[in-house]
Amino acid sequence: MSNLGNPGMRSWIDAAPQSDFPIQNIPFGICSTPGMPPHPCTRIGDQVISLHALAEGGLLNGIGMDAAVFAAPVLNPLMQYGKAGVRRLRERLMDLLRHDNGELRDRADLVRKAVLPIASATMHLPVEVGDYTDFYSSREHATNVGIMFRGPENALMPNWLHLPVGYHGRSSSIVVSGTPIRRPMGQMRPKPDEPPVFGPSKQLDIEVETGFITFAGKPLGERITAGEAEDRIFGMVLFNDWSARDIQSWEYVPLGPFLGKNFGSSMSPWIVTLDALEPFRTAGPVQEPTPLPYLQTHGAHSFDIRLEAALKTNTGVETVICRTNFKHLYWSMAQQLAHHTVNGCNVRAGDLMASGTISGPDPGSYGSLLELTWRGTKPLALQDGSTRNFLEDGDTVVIRGHAENGGLRIGFGEVSGQVLPAA
Ligand code: CA
Repeated sequence: MSNLGNPGMRSWIDAAPQSDFPIQNIPFGICSTPGMPPHPCTRIGDQVISLHALAEGGLLNGIGMDAAVFAAPVLNPLMQYGKAGVRRLRERLMDLLRHDNGELRDRADLVRKAVLPIASATMHLPVEVGDYTDFYSSREHATNVGIMFRGPENALMPNWLHLPVGYHGRSSSIVVSGTPIRRPMGQMRPKPDEPPVFGPSKQLDIEVETGFITFAGKPLGERITAGEAEDRIFGMVLFNDWSARDIQSWEYVPLGPFLGKNFGSSMSPWIVTLDALEPFRTAGPVQEPTPLPYLQTHGAHSFDIRLEAALKTNTGVETVICRTNFKHLYWSMAQQLAHHTVNGCNVRAGDLMASGTISGPDPGSYGSLLELTWRGTKPLALQDGSTRNFLEDGDTVVIRGHAENGGLRIGFGEVSGQVLPAA
């Protein structure tokens, strides 16, 4: 662990001071480059580093990993080595990329193959997502939605402070950042006393979220305790859970989200490990009432991660519409995973658990247009002079996230997607 999070360490590959990707990050992704099909990589500054090329050059021997995992088109095989294996790999990569190590730096032929500008790489979905679960863990978000739909008296449902509410989503429609999202068609009932209608959603929205990717869990029938949970988490991503509010509000009774959600969710390409985020660990909100024993944890289990969402219209002008922070989430990832498995439900390497919309206490920190415009009653003014209640065709939404303190910055890059017209 000696390498992890040392803020003074630097690489022989340059990273600008404001880069999300210093040598202390070492995230994992899947890239393809000219002549190379999708394979695992990491990143420093604006350079991607091919783990396949490093393995071919003999530089990843001795860490106990089969070389085939570095040629795979997804990270799932690598993840079978679990937290200890990934930790050994990250430490080896930090070692190879450190400014005073010449093992790779001084092999010009290998550097030419292994280190390439990010602009020449195409990033792919980093894991084959097996199952996808979406939680609803922001108290501010749940309260805002509750006030809008049920009034201030019953804003939070009776279960909300006792368990991390969630639902099973659909993994097949999770796409990597940069993939356009087509406006969904669907059934909705715009006027409460009239029959439903069919057409393109008129209330297309975003949800500013993060997600975590699991290592292999335990067999069906066994549970992961809250204390064990973080050892079963590979790392985190940014996540935009696009939502059609008009379809959602008509269809959701009584079984929950369905076609208003499963037409697309966007994920950032770099998985940032919990080890990289360790310097930013912080306590989450005080939990009152005290959760049941299986949800109790000791110590700090949240992370201080700054998040922002920007809306770029087809004029090219961008407006930051939300600034929030992961640390506002009421339920931690450890509690989410403990709850998810407490009935014996198994998780597998590559499962994705999303946080739910992350809203903070101030109106500028709300993580959805539904809240930012208060259900369309307060249109958002954008920098190009236009206004929005919900997304229009051609709009691009970019969510960015990073953690920063004491001169160390660790980030995720971004997750973006443009809205295409309905077809
Ligand atoms: Ca969501």
